[in-house]
Amino acid sequence: MSEKKPFLLPAIFSMKCPSCREGHVFVNKGLFPLGKLLLLKDHCDVCGQKMKSESNNGGGINYALTVAVFFLNLTWYKPIFGMTAKDNSFYYYLITSTVIVILLQPYLMRLSRMAYLYLYISYGTTRKVSKSE
Ligand SMILES: [Zn+2]
Repeated sequence: MSEKKPFLLPAIFSMKCPSCREGHVFVNKGLFPLGKLLLLKDHCDVCGQKMKSESNNGGGINYALTVAVFFLNLTWYKPIFGMTAKDNSFYYYLITSTVIVILLQPYLMRLSRMAYLYLYISYGTTRKVSKSE
């Protein structure tokens, strides 16, 4: 393990272990096959942190992320395509956002699972417990 504490957000977005921020959390590094998208490793390869927690987690976070993406879309959609109450532009925005959210969904699901893990496992958890020299 390195001496410097890796930054939180890059570790989350690159799906790294919450305890050591070095090991990869998911069995498959890529998003495919989608059936194994959320398959977590039993233990972190690097530090041995237990990854498997209760099932059905991250659902609420996933919902929040989905809503967040809708709002994010608004910030670039409105300046580029414009949006008025006069025509159907709001509906076009909704359709565009829905498509983007569906396309991003596998990534959002992983991200919400990551957020959940990071809520429950803090940095250095395994270091305190296991490595006593
Ligand atoms: Zn680890």
